[in-house]
Amino acid sequence: MRFLLILLLVLLAAWWWRQKKREKTAAPPTEQAPKAVPMVHCQTCGLHLPQTDAIASQGVYFCSTEHQQRVGP
Ligand SMILES: [Zn+2]
Repeated sequence: MRFLLILLLVLLAAWWWRQKKREKTAAPPTEQAPKAVPMVHCQTCGLHLPQTDAIASQGVYFCSTEHQQRVGP
C-alpha cells in the first residue's frame, strides 16, 4: 500500500513539473511574425506581385524587364 502511495506521489510530481515546464516554454509569444510585403502591380500587364519581386523604375513597377522595356522610352 505504501508503495502505491509513493508511486502516486511521484507521478503527481512528474505531472506537476511537466505542467510548470510547459507554462515556461509557452510564455514567450511568437516574436517572428511574417513580414508583410507590400503588393504592387505591373504597369504593363497589371499583374500583382510582391514589391520585392518587382522591378522598380521611375516610381512604377514591372513584373519583368521585358515589360519594363515595353513601356520605356
Ligand atoms: Zn507585366
